[in-house]
Amino acid sequence: MDAGIPVEVMMNSALVNNLAKVAKDAALQHGVLMRTKETPNSSELVTYTSFTLFPTPVPRAAFHQALAVQTHFNTLVDKLSQDPDFLQEALASTIAVDKFTAGLFKIHQQILKEGRSQSIVLGLNRSDYMLDQREDGTSALKQIEINTIAASFGGLASRTPELHRQILKVAGRLEDSQRILDNNPAAGMAGAMAKAWELYGSERAVVMFLVEDTQRNIFDQRCIEYELWKRNIPTTRKSFDDVRKTGSLDQDKKLFVDGQEVAVVYFRNGYMPEHYSTEEFWDTRLLMERSLAVKCPDISTHLAGTKKVQQVLAKPGVLEKFFPDQPQVVEQIRATFAGLYTLDLGPEGDKTVAMALAAPDRFVLKPQREGGGNNIYGSDICKVLQGMTDSTERMAYILMDKIQSVPSQNFLLRRDFPLKITNCLSEVGAFGAYVRHGEDMVMNECVGHLLRTKSSEHADGGVAAGVAVLDNPLLI
Ligand code: ADP
Ligand code: MG
Ligand code: MG
Repeated sequence: MDAGIPVEVMMNSALVNNLAKVAKDAALQHGVLMRTKETPNSSELVTYTSFTLFPTPVPRAAFHQALAVQTHFNTLVDKLSQDPDFLQEALASTIAVDKFTAGLFKIHQQILKEGRSQSIVLGLNRSDYMLDQREDGTSALKQIEINTIAASFGGLASRTPELHRQILKVAGRLEDSQRILDNNPAAGMAGAMAKAWELYGSERAVVMFLVEDTQRNIFDQRCIEYELWKRNIPTTRKSFDDVRKTGSLDQDKKLFVDGQEVAVVYFRNGYMPEHYSTEEFWDTRLLMERSLAVKCPDISTHLAGTKKVQQVLAKPGVLEKFFPDQPQVVEQIRATFAGLYTLDLGPEGDKTVAMALAAPDRFVLKPQREGGGNNIYGSDICKVLQGMTDSTERMAYILMDKIQSVPSQNFLLRRDFPLKITNCLSEVGAFGAYVRHGEDMVMNECVGHLLRTKSSEHADGGVAAGVAVLDNPLLI
């Protein structure tokens, strides 16, 4: 290979051990941090966020393709969020059997009935991809999913380029160190939030980070907070329970939490059933959705990021409806779609089931869940599909082609795990940021990238789930 880390470096265990020490110290000094499992809500003891010892080779064309299509995905997500008929039709079967998505949908409908109180829309998303190996030896960029709520690691990804630069210099690879790309999604995300805050137009109003009770990944969020404070925009961190206890709307629907007016609610919580541990938190979400605060995302944009919507978008003719005069945009988006198949009742869904049972290793079965670790692979697909007592249960899922990437070798630096050479698979993410004011898109950008790498032994799971680790691309 012409551009990866040479085997003689990887195999030199004295060098690798020394580099690992250098790497961990560099992570602490550059703020690539995570609170520990033992003390998730205290910063007295913190550790490095898991990352790769070396950057991973990524084909240049595919990488740039992911960045280039991002503004179109921003536009698409935004259009979907404004199309109640599309969302209703796309999600009808899902919400009939999936209680969580149904709960979100109910809020969406309530807001439609009452009318949206805020015309400023702030979208921060991350579209994720893997490289599918083609028979001719080349690879194709295929979208895994798009995260329209709580897309994370834009903060820490802004700090990792320095790590790999430092490691490569110590490894005697000065030229490679200069190939590590700059990356600052935190600044770009904060830029979009700042725009929304300005449009809201109240200097004292805050950007509220709605956070989980367990806050291990706080430093990722802090990076964005600091970018906002740099612009003299006040931020605050509140949980669902804080908002439940101290949140209210005034007669203009301005949201006040703990006495402070909220200009922007940035959701880093609320994307899993577990986040709504009491029925009252659904009311709390509704309160925020109803308010004049800018929601990132609003409930419709949240729903636009479901896997069911992703599957419906891949049906022939659907993208064309959203981009009627832009065949190149349709083509650019569609080129990233893997095979996606409905499990709705009827002959098409029956065909999907038969196909999955005949060759389960070729597919991934996906429920409408976020946060990693929820997908079903291989023989478990048969168990799940055949074990259903009622065939309507299958409507909670979609089926997707399994992306077959070529593994690369690396060392994963994970606390309490031995350092060993590992076969790895990587996932590239592109961060999208946009702001719409009424009819006008006032900002639409790709604000950076993320590379996450995991051992090929794990089929599933993100960084927060403790499986994938942070990485940087080395373009080849
Ligand atoms: P989540 O919203 O929980 O992150 P994803 O769709 O991203 O759900 O799936 C989680 C992980 O499962 C991905 O990060 C990837 O490692 C793996 N995965 C998902 N879809 C596929 C696929 N089609 N082919 C191969 N791996 C996949
Ligand atoms: Mg997701
Ligand atoms: Mg994912």
